[in-house]
Amino acid sequence: MVIKVGILGFGGLGQAALKLLSTKQEMLCVALADQKGYVYASQGIDVNKAIATYQAKGSVGYLESGVLSDQSIKALISNPNHNVSGYFLALPNLPNTFMASVAKEFISSGWQGVLVDAIKRTSAVEQLIGLSEDLKASGITYLTGCGATPGLLTAAAAIAAQSFAEVHKVEIQFGVGIANWSAYRATIREDIAHMPGYTVDIAQAMTDAEVEALLDKTNGLITLEHMEHADDILLERLGICSRDRVTVGGVVDTRNPKKPLSTNMKLTGRTFEGKISTHTFTLGDETSMAANVCGTAFGYLKAAQAFHQKSIHGLFTSAEVMPLFVQ
Ligand code: NAD
Repeated sequence: MVIKVGILGFGGLGQAALKLLSTKQEMLCVALADQKGYVYASQGIDVNKAIATYQAKGSVGYLESGVLSDQSIKALISNPNHNVSGYFLALPNLPNTFMASVAKEFISSGWQGVLVDAIKRTSAVEQLIGLSEDLKASGITYLTGCGATPGLLTAAAAIAAQSFAEVHKVEIQFGVGIANWSAYRATIREDIAHMPGYTVDIAQAMTDAEVEALLDKTNGLITLEHMEHADDILLERLGICSRDRVTVGGVVDTRNPKKPLSTNMKLTGRTFEGKISTHTFTLGDETSMAANVCGTAFGYLKAAQAFHQKSIHGLFTSAEVMPLFVQ
């Protein structure tokens, strides 16, 4: 059976997600929303037209069957004639409460189905965990932290932990290379928010010119250490290790699609025989951020759909569920 999905947010990740889905048989994208509008097409959305229209006019609301609205998410999800089983939330989490507010919008709409996000901050995931009971009561299966980190690398850590009696540390390092920062504005602003002296509010308020001026000073590179990343709480919730044993950092090159370093997860622990060892999971350098985030998100969407069909609702995380491969 083909799963009818929607993508909320049609920037860098949203567009990559639509392209990726166009290569799949098991999922069909029938809905898109951005800040200024939405489109619903029960037979599927034309990838090239959607991307060309968004890039030329700034919203999918300008497509033939599109609707312009500054309440696009609400308008899309509350229409009872729209048949969408699950949404990938490729939205910026700016401010840091935005994703939780979208989840609340779904809860109050009466819509039932599956939701997947690629959210990053610990404090943002904590807000979603707080909505767990409401999601359950509403018949929604929500999988959070389903990008690359948190997401693919956190799941790898949960698997790697199985060899050990005690986990001493989990170190995640990511390398991201993009040709132009403006293709991923929210991702870059959220990364800047982790730099010393910056906050989510400061990064959100920066104009594009201010972002460019900052990137000029750093030669296009953003180097991050000890980030507030939800990989820590996702692993702590499962009893794998306390959150202070998890560190996340990385380098983002905003002027070169080549990764500045190979994204990797290293988990060190002690086996039941007393041996100390490290498992390493390294992503291939040719795999882009978009491939690693969107592939993972839809794998979790398929897993969430299987849960939903068994009437398992509420909030789950990428560390506790195995993603299913979408054909
Ligand atoms: P972007 O800035 O390129 O695009 C954002 C999109 O959201 C735009 O289409 C915009 O119109 C839309 N939008 C904004 N506010 C909206 C609203 N109120 N209603 C409807 N649509 C709205 O963003 P991006 O760079 O693609 O990043 C998306 C998110 O993915 C970010 O939060 C980023 O942190 C996250 N991300 C996660 C990972 C991971 O590994 N977990 C990796 C990369 C990015």
